[in-house]
Amino acid sequence: MKINPSFSSIIYSYRQSALSKRSTSRRLVAWVEDHRLRTGPAKAIVFILPTRGCSWALSRSGGCSICGYLYDNPQKPDFSEMLSDFSSKLSSLIDPSLSYSIKLFTSGSILDSLEVPKQVLISILHELQPYSSSIKELVLESRPSYVTEEKLTLLRDHFDIAKVEIAIGLESANNAILRDSINKGFFWEDFERATKRVFSFGAKIKAYLLFKPPFVSEFDSILDIFNSVKQVVSLGVDTVSINAINIQRGTYLSSLFEKNFYRPPYLWSLVHICQELSTLYPNLRIICDPVAGGKKRGAHNCGSCDSAIVQALKDFTLSQDPSILQDLPSCPCKLEWKSYLLHSKLNNNDFFSLSF
Ligand code: SF4
Ligand SMILES: [Zn+2]
Repeated sequence: MKINPSFSSIIYSYRQSALSKRSTSRRLVAWVEDHRLRTGPAKAIVFILPTRGCSWALSRSGGCSICGYLYDNPQKPDFSEMLSDFSSKLSSLIDPSLSYSIKLFTSGSILDSLEVPKQVLISILHELQPYSSSIKELVLESRPSYVTEEKLTLLRDHFDIAKVEIAIGLESANNAILRDSINKGFFWEDFERATKRVFSFGAKIKAYLLFKPPFVSEFDSILDIFNSVKQVVSLGVDTVSINAINIQRGTYLSSLFEKNFYRPPYLWSLVHICQELSTLYPNLRIICDPVAGGKKRGAHNCGSCDSAIVQALKDFTLSQDPSILQDLPSCPCKLEWKSYLLHSKLNNNDFFSLSF
């Protein structure tokens, strides 16, 4: 399967006009947050490494229709500054008596050598070594094409590979959605191959699934999440992150939103998805912590019930206890959500039918 050239050229033109606002000076940022380890609630230290940004977004194909991360990446990264910032933030944020997930993000792919040269990656892994007993998971985000035997060997040589989790933004297992809604630039088969490679090294996979990409109705996207989870679970993946759209500036999706052609998803849909998935897959780790939840550009309901539902989703993510989602306060907007779903079901588009 190939990308859709006319769609990707539209995205490329949006990308070019937004790139003029790209940051030139951002340094490494890091913070501590709550996190659900496979074994229970804990903390995560998240690092956003200031690389040149996602090669797919920088390419003539324009990158993904929903993604504006590139605008925060510096044009000329300074790797020695990055490493010294990494070292000092790590030592100041970590408490060696606690358990952590370390998340290494670049707003792109950390396994892409154009973003993070091999020697820099090795240096980062060496910085983590003194804390290895506290680090229960090491999460590395990457597109599947960079998850090569060579990179997995490097990880195995410099860290405990059983703790490594490769997080891949699959978004959907439906190739039509990947091509004509997201312009993802890879397909289900690429994810499948990368997953098998990762498993053969004894590492783990987390699949990010995107809820409500452009042109996919709320109803169809719920079905697509269920279908995508079924497919990733069939490969042996034990963790999914259900990522509701948040509308990032300078993206193709943002242009649809600004013209009133797109409504971000309802939080009620996320509650429904998490409830159904936790019943269907009791051993699956389900992460659902919507970015900009309750805000205009993120998943939201009516405004008055949003904060309670966002908090319930966070609590569910940490505890994996679905009963939290059963005891939510009722709100009149739930009826509005149901009629919106019914309307979107009646106005079915082609994406879902193409997947079967
Ligand atoms: S979503 Fe990921 S792969 Fe797509 S453009 Fe953004 S960083 Fe790159
Ligand atoms: Zn409400």
